[in-house]
Amino acid sequence: MIRSVEDMVWCRNAPEATEGVSGGLLLAACEGPACQFPVRSEGADTYFCAAPVEPEHWASGRQDSRYCPFHRDYLSGCKSLAEEAA
Ligand SMILES: [Zn+2]
Repeated sequence: MIRSVEDMVWCRNAPEATEGVSGGLLLAACEGPACQFPVRSEGADTYFCAAPVEPEHWASGRQDSRYCPFHRDYLSGCKSLAEEAA
């Protein structure tokens, strides 16, 4: 079973990228290629990392194209989550 990014984040303490916005940004406040890794939720609002994403990576259409290098690294280290939960 593949878990969503949200599951990963909210089950764990997600690290914030040093390039990201401290405390995160609402999606509506993100401009251009900004990391959409959810770092925090407050009520119904979700705050995203918002660190810059390389335009060429953003446009690549890859599954992780909406995440900054820091969070791509973080997610690649989370691939064993499903096995951990088993
Ligand atoms: Zn990020």
